[in-house]
Amino acid sequence: MIGEKLKSILEELPHSVKLVAVSKFHPMEDILEAYNAGQRRFGENRPQEFAAKAVQLPQDIEWHFIGHLQTNKLKLVLPYASLVQSIDSLHLLDAVESWGERNERSVRVLLEQHLGSEQTKSGMDEEEILQICRDAASYPHVRFCGLMGMASNTDDEQQIREEFSRIRTLFRRIAGEFPQLEEFTELSIGMSGDWRIAVECGATIVRIGTAIFGYRDYPNAL
Ligand SMILES: *Cc1c(COP(=O)(O)O)cnc(C)c1O
Repeated sequence: MIGEKLKSILEELPHSVKLVAVSKFHPMEDILEAYNAGQRRFGENRPQEFAAKAVQLPQDIEWHFIGHLQTNKLKLVLPYASLVQSIDSLHLLDAVESWGERNERSVRVLLEQHLGSEQTKSGMDEEEILQICRDAASYPHVRFCGLMGMASNTDDEQQIREEFSRIRTLFRRIAGEFPQLEEFTELSIGMSGDWRIAVECGATIVRIGTAIFGYRDYPNAL
């Protein structure tokens, strides 16, 4: 079942776009089912769950952290994350830099842009993100790999397109204005309900949970 859903998404997804299978709230058996179908890239959004799965599941899995990260939880996430997609504040970025310095590691990150209109949505505004790019040299233990964004939870396709276009515009602007950020190549947009639109809008990474693993038990907790 999981394998078939994966396969049908992969058949439609252009080869150049990376699929992060979002396994949050789903048991390890489900992840193994996707793993046995060939999937190696998974995303989680809660530090405790992320660490437990990363330690116990096969070591060739590429783990992406995609949720809000509190600075006192870095040690659960940074040792295992191939990419932290959800840098949503300067405070968090500063903490990641100090963790990297202390642990002699460099951490690959995406900067999360706030897109939706809802007040609760996380992420930084355009000016904050541009300022971080100007200051990138002060983060020697952080590798800036691109932008992440979540569109509004709406059926209004035009609005979703506008939001994705907004982040793509910023993404291209940064790539143009900051050529020193050589790894700034990823645009992570698109979830189960809007990934086809995201691909049309230039996604290089899509993050898909429900369409692969089915509904989560505790959607309200998200
Ligand atoms: C849960 C989550 C997803 C996946 O959402 P689905 O609608 O289940 O595909 C993608 N991105 C982030 C940041 C998430 O928290």
